Amino acid sequence: MSSETKEFKTETKKLLDMMIHSIYTHKEIFLRELISNASDAIDKRKFLSLTDQSIINPDYQILVEADKTNRTLTISDNGIGMNKEELENNLGTIAKSGSKEFLEQLGDKANTSDIIGQFGVGFYSAFMVASKVEVLSHKVNTNETYLFSSEGLDSYTISSSDELIDGTKIVLYLREDTEDEKYSEFLDEYQIKDLIRKYSDYIRYPIKTWVTKYDKVEEGKEDKESTHLELETINSMIPLWKKNRKDVTDEELNNFYKQKFVDYQDPLSAIFVSVEGLITYNALLFIPRKPMFNVYNDRDERGLQLYTKGVFILDKCKDLIPDYLYFVKGLVDSADLPLNISRELLQEDRQIKKIASNVEKKILQELAKMLKNDRNKYEEFFKDYGRALKYGLYENYGARKESLQDLIILHSLNEDKFITLKEYKEKMPEGQKNIYYVALKTKEQALNLPQMTLLKNKGYDVLLLNDDVDEFMLQVMHDYDKVEFKSITQGELDLLDEEENKKLDEVKENNKDLLEALKETLKDDVSDVILSKRLVDGAVCLSAKGGISIEMEKVLAAQDGMAKAEKILEINPNHKIFTKLQEIYQNDKDKLADYAKFLLDDALIIEGLQPKDPVNFANKAIELLLK
Ligand code: ADP
Ligand code: MG
Repeated sequence: MSSETKEFKTETKKLLDMMIHSIYTHKEIFLRELISNASDAIDKRKFLSLTDQSIINPDYQILVEADKTNRTLTISDNGIGMNKEELENNLGTIAKSGSKEFLEQLGDKANTSDIIGQFGVGFYSAFMVASKVEVLSHKVNTNETYLFSSEGLDSYTISSSDELIDGTKIVLYLREDTEDEKYSEFLDEYQIKDLIRKYSDYIRYPIKTWVTKYDKVEEGKEDKESTHLELETINSMIPLWKKNRKDVTDEELNNFYKQKFVDYQDPLSAIFVSVEGLITYNALLFIPRKPMFNVYNDRDERGLQLYTKGVFILDKCKDLIPDYLYFVKGLVDSADLPLNISRELLQEDRQIKKIASNVEKKILQELAKMLKNDRNKYEEFFKDYGRALKYGLYENYGARKESLQDLIILHSLNEDKFITLKEYKEKMPEGQKNIYYVALKTKEQALNLPQMTLLKNKGYDVLLLNDDVDEFMLQVMHDYDKVEFKSITQGELDLLDEEENKKLDEVKENNKDLLEALKETLKDDVSDVILSKRLVDGAVCLSAKGGISIEMEKVLAAQDGMAKAEKILEINPNHKIFTKLQEIYQNDKDKLADYAKFLLDDALIIEGLQPKDPVNFANKAIELLLK
């Protein structure tokens, strides 16, 4: 029998080393990992058999056998099996597996023991309990059986074998017991049964082990009790998602999520969906506690798993969930879909569309419930995923407005916490006609805006938008419950009463020429110069006409957009500077241009923009200080 010895790849060595020296106390999870691989292997065989008639489906099972004499624990399955290359690629290297992500997540963190158990560390976890591991495997529809063997150090050997098996058999040679670690416990019948129930109950194939049965003893011979062993199925085989929420413990649910979706934290939320009717399906959905690794840039990761009658069909099925809910993990199990449905067919499938729209509804309902019953949790959620909901609102011209608008929370001038639009509206004083907002990065900036004083004086609250997408979102929404959104730096504010308006019109009429002259001077930079209706103390400000605000222009500029805000310079007619301008216009027309430019720069700076000519502006300011 020929045998080849090969070196493990560097990354694999690292992981193996970690497993061998692990001080992790729940080494028992190795069994969960090996059983899950066995179950995957059966899934794969079953799946192949759908299209390949030559593959027969035996009575699928996973067998766990302890041999106390030889200190071995054997896990066998009659799944797809591995050929020589696969043994090498799948076990000799860390493939796409959970193990790889485990290492990536681990980074330089020193304390591995905390997260080992929470992570799917895969096949290699066997080395936490075994000093030697043998994998005997026969790939379905081939003529060869191979034996992979490793003592977990640097290398492994692969040789061909004469043993007749169907699928894969993994033999663990358990380590010697020590003071702290009693590896022989894993040979104990009760311990094995407990572990299978704890971690692998929902596995859809029977997991069997040998169980001691007590024989009927003849009366008077009780002391001569006799026993025999029977092979018994230990797991309930009901998929977790088909159970009632109340029949699943939090621990089971969390373990299931972490193992299946490779996270090391418990989920923030789990949603059970069970629908019977024209379409019958179950879904189990999770919101991860923190956005998953890479989730922002890699939207290909999104989608739900699809099962039909408990059989795994497709991973990351995007048609089951709208784009903006990319962060949701989970699965859908429907009884009504054909087993051989392809991705192409799915897109067309009306049932899938129905399921998707229902899944979306359920998620939003869950979020609404969280917002209502556990505000802190919702805020935690919103900090990480709020942007997703905002994009959902913005997308498709606000088509999801009705379903999403009450899930948005924002900061505001008067409140120290996030508020909903409903809460804003409820607190509006009599006479307030709009929902006001301003887009700025910080609350301080917003508070210092000259435009803010008038609203503060009136006791109006102002939404403080600090996310790039916020302003775009509000514009697409247009209104909340028939109250229109209005930027305090854009368009007409309409906050003056009739009297005040009349007075302003007069001032405007009397200073027509002055305003014209200013406008002419600044015509390259602003589209108009007007007397402000929004300033109280401040001298000048910029406002924007039309749909694009100055903040939006900044966002668009960063995405190299060409769209520009149509800027207007507003001058406070009640400010001393206006009297000064009138004087200059009368006596020293040449100087007016200087003043106009300076005031524009002033207004630009207030908006957080660059002055037109920073050096000139700085020099002028110094000159003024010296006067
Ligand atoms: P993962 O299960 O996350 O892929 P593992 O380290 O658990 O990572 O397993 C690595 C790979 O080895 C699996 O993806 C699979 O291809 C293969 N494998 C492991 N156990 C078996 C088995 N019992 N039968 C067939 N293939 C297996
Ligand atoms: Mg695995």
